[in-house]
Amino acid sequence: MTAGESNIITFPAPSYFGDCPRCGRNDGYLNDGAEHWFICRRHRVKWYLGSNLFSAWRALSDAEAWAQAAELATYTAIAARYRGTLPAGVKDSEP
Ligand SMILES: [Zn+2]
Repeated sequence: MTAGESNIITFPAPSYFGDCPRCGRNDGYLNDGAEHWFICRRHRVKWYLGSNLFSAWRALSDAEAWAQAAELATYTAIAARYRGTLPAGVKDSEP
């Protein structure tokens, strides 16, 4: 790693599910109930992907589900930047 590089891992690269418009990365997603939000922790932003698309939210304990929803509540909802093929029904947020 050279000076100025970030240690944030791009997931996946390039992201099918959108990236932070400021840094072009994401930190995966968190769930608020059945809703999935991708996040960038560095810039404290989130963007909505959809509801009940991934089944993992059902396996969360009450404490885990609460913690994820609480973390999401601290982030600002934004429009993600999309590269490559877009998921069905998702519009490119770039002008
Ligand atoms: Zn970012």
